[in-house]
Order: sequence, then structure tokens, then C-alpha cells
Amino acid sequence: MAIQFRCASLLSRFQNPGNEAYSERKLQVRFDPLLGTSARIAEGMKLQTGADAALDSSRAPDPNCPFCAERIDRVTPRIAGEITPAGRIRVGQTVLFPNLVPYSKYAAVAVFTTQHWLGLRDFTPALIADNLAASLEYIRAAAEVHADARFCAYNINYLYPSGGSLPHPHSQVYVDPFPTSMMRMQHTSVAAYWDANGRCFWNDLVAEETERAERIVSRDRPIVWMTPFAPIGFNEVRAVVCERANILDLSSADVQALASGISRVLAWYDSIGYNSFNLALYSGELGKDGADRVNLTMVTRTAMTPFYRSDSMYLERLHWEAALDRTPEDVAADVRQYFRSAKGA
Ligand SMILES: [Zn+2]
Repeated sequence: MAIQFRCASLLSRFQNPGNEAYSERKLQVRFDPLLGTSARIAEGMKLQTGADAALDSSRAPDPNCPFCAERIDRVTPRIAGEITPAGRIRVGQTVLFPNLVPYSKYAAVAVFTTQHWLGLRDFTPALIADNLAASLEYIRAAAEVHADARFCAYNINYLYPSGGSLPHPHSQVYVDPFPTSMMRMQHTSVAAYWDANGRCFWNDLVAEETERAERIVSRDRPIVWMTPFAPIGFNEVRAVVCERANILDLSSADVQALASGISRVLAWYDSIGYNSFNLALYSGELGKDGADRVNLTMVTRTAMTPFYRSDSMYLERLHWEAALDRTPEDVAADVRQYFRSAKGA
């Protein structure tokens, strides 16, 4: 097995303020088994949690919100006719339309609900499944008529600390001729692993994590939930969708199962005092059948408070290296409780 979990434990020593004694603090440097990128788990840091009152202004009805039911049909754009003659895609409460700010060539926004506000526990499996299903329907339609719609991902920014510009719950669909940096890095590293070992990295990762049982949260094939050995964000939880190379390979049962898992992770985030998160569901290139696998990651962001410290500092923004407060093994032990009723957990 070629999966390697490299970790160095360091001690930082300093003289205490106000006396002669010395203290030591622990620091772990961990290396991601796929990308080789590193992460730091530092004793003494803590990501800020939120106070409920800080959400009042976002929770209040907003007469200018473009995603509320009374305005959405009037103020949001319509999908180009060759992709979807209806102009918008509706599944359950979800309404999907193009993004006015195109972060990708065929960027779309999918509003989850007519309700202006959802707490993290209000993201039910049904709301998430409908939103994801609408996004997949859009990606499939775009890819059928545009040969350059090759790389795609399903993403969420929730609340301002995550980069979200509107509190009304929505997801962002990425469809583009080019992969993002992370999608490119995953693909290149998975191909290199295949060349070196003649095996699929993701299959080996699932087998190795299952064997170790330290970071596995739930196994209900084809979807395996776990925490990453070397996280890129706080309270990070990931899922690997085994045997699915790209997002259009997901069955409706896969969509339901992913939605159920996402909902459980959000309930856990709520229970530990966080209200803002990011999510990305990465896909291999459409139409290619390599060793890439659909995989998902979710992280908490600093919670909404009137004056908050961003969780991205020089390390994250300029060194591409996360500094974290908890070990992935602790995170797995916590989030596992929320998957107890899932089959195979
Ligand atoms: Zn709204």
C-alpha cells in the first residue's frame, strides 16, 4: 500500500511572561497523502464560535433580497435557451439560474428555499438533495450542448465569513473549460499515483483509512465519510464517492446519501457553535474515465460575530498551509456521533 501519513511532532519552547520558568507547546506538521501539502495543528489556538444574537440582522426579512420568492423571478437572470429553454431549473423548492458574477463560464446559482433564513439544522436532507439534483440537471444540460463544459463542481458559501454575499441559502455551480487549481492538483496527483503504483489512490485511501479506523466517520458504499489526515480547514469532514469518476455518474441514491451526510455534518457544526461553512463537491473531468473520484469537503469558518478574527491568516492565504486547533482524529470522534443512525456507520 503506497498511502503515506507523514507527520512530525515539534515542541516550541519559550520563557514564560513574568517568571523564569520555561513552557513547551506542541505543534504537529502533517503532510497530505495525495497532494503532499502540509497542515499545522497548533496547541493553544481556537477558532472563534458565534453568539446567536450576531445572526439577528441576517435572519431578519430583507426587502431587497433577490432570492426571496417575491423577487426571484423578476430580478435573476435566465439560462441561455440552448441549454434550458425554460430559463430556470426547479426541483422541489430549489430554483437554479445563471450567476450574474460568472466565476466560471457556465456559472449558476441554486437557491435552496423560498425561506430567507435557514439555521444549519434547517438544511434538511430533502432540501440539499433537491438542490444538488437541480445542479446536476444543469451541468448535464450545459455539457450536452457545449463541448467546453468539461470541469465542474458544486459549492456552498454560507454566511459572510465564508465569502457568501447574501444570507439567503444558495449553492454555486462551477462549470468551465478549465479545472480549478485544487481540481487540477487532485487530478495530477491521482494520475502520478496511478503511474507509480498501478492503483487508484481513492480506493487505497478508503482501504487504508478503514484499516486504521482513526478518521473514518461512516462507511455506506459507495460513499465513505472521513476526516482528512492533513486538513485544509477547521473541523474539516470529507466524503469519497467510490466508483464515481465524475459528478454526472452520481445516481439519485448517491445524491440522497450525500445530502443525508451533509445534513448530519451541518447539525454537528451547529452543535459546536459554528454557523458559517464552505463546501465543495469536486468532480473528475466530464467524459473521462480515469482514476479520479467524486469527493467532497466541508469546513467551518469563523462564526458570525460583530467583530471576528478571520480564520485565514498569512499561512492560509499566502503559504497555502492551514493552521488548526484540533486533530482530525478528535474531529472524527465527534462527528461520528451524528452518523450513528446511518447504515454501515
Ligand atoms: Zn431572501
